[in-house]
Amino acid sequence: MRFIPVLLVFLVAYAQALGQRSFPFSKTSVPPGSKKHFKIPVSDGNNSTYIPITVFHGANPGPVLGITAGIHGYEYPPILAAQRLNQQIDPNGLSGTIILVQIANVPAFLGRSPFVNPIDGKNLNRSFPGKEEGSITERIAHIITKEVIAKSSFFVDMHGGDAPEDLQPYNSWYQSDILSETSKKGQEMALAMGFDYVIVFNISKERLEKPSLFCSQEAFHRNIPSVDIECGRLGMPGNEETNQIVQGVFSLLGHLNMMSITRTPKKTPIIVAKRSTIKSRSTGFFCTDKKAGDTIKAGTQVGYITDFFGTKLEDISSPQDGIILYMIGTPPINAGETLMNIGILPNTLNQK
Ligand SMILES: [Zn+2]
Repeated sequence: MRFIPVLLVFLVAYAQALGQRSFPFSKTSVPPGSKKHFKIPVSDGNNSTYIPITVFHGANPGPVLGITAGIHGYEYPPILAAQRLNQQIDPNGLSGTIILVQIANVPAFLGRSPFVNPIDGKNLNRSFPGKEEGSITERIAHIITKEVIAKSSFFVDMHGGDAPEDLQPYNSWYQSDILSETSKKGQEMALAMGFDYVIVFNISKERLEKPSLFCSQEAFHRNIPSVDIECGRLGMPGNEETNQIVQGVFSLLGHLNMMSITRTPKKTPIIVAKRSTIKSRSTGFFCTDKKAGDTIKAGTQVGYITDFFGTKLEDISSPQDGIILYMIGTPPINAGETLMNIGILPNTLNQK
């Protein structure tokens, strides 16, 4: 009689080897070689919304890639890229599964609200891992953590420059000596996506022990290789940036062997391991002729701030040689806010 359980185990393994099993998601399952759309409801009792998610379940087995767009609802190129990915990814040509959050923050998208969810005024990308019984934003974070991040073998969170943010496109990976294997895989993912600049997010042991706050960092805290994309500027629905994101995701799918994709060789990206921040000491108007992507020298004046009557309050100059990765590209500025984020380029690192 002993051979019967052995035979059963063998038969189950044989059946699995023959083909991909269905992927369970949100009280149902997605058959191999198909995709399904979901609207996951979110409610705090008074307010309600939903999260539109598409699950692509490949015909062949493979890893699970989680992708989020619209964590910030005013950052359109990632959201438009997700719409295109929805049309272009063929589950029959896919090995593994993609869980694609089309728009994480629907209230911010429909409410045309930069940075925060207009229902509770919270920034979703400072709310991870979220709270099951929290405010609406905290509940969105909780559902994305549970339904998307926790199920992923690899993870990508897609952003762009919000309404006042001018941005040089880049992507980034999380780096920690404690999670060295995961960091290495994240680095390989980031480098495979074809961005000209790749940023290293160094995460200390102390930081790893605190709540992640950021969506992609939640994945990293869970030992999942995780990449951020920043592509798009000033809240505009840029076609070029949207294309760049779509191409980046397809390159990543090729790198992860989830799709057979012939990638055109890219020039080696510039890795930015150090950044420097310029903050404003004054409140008023930020006046500048610089834009993201400009390279600047230490000591160069990059702008000035005036009060509401046009009187200059302070000159702003760069503390470093480098490239402007991010800057405020519109006039309003409050004391203490970041004006610019300067990426220190590898060839200038030893000069300081
Ligand atoms: Zn964002």
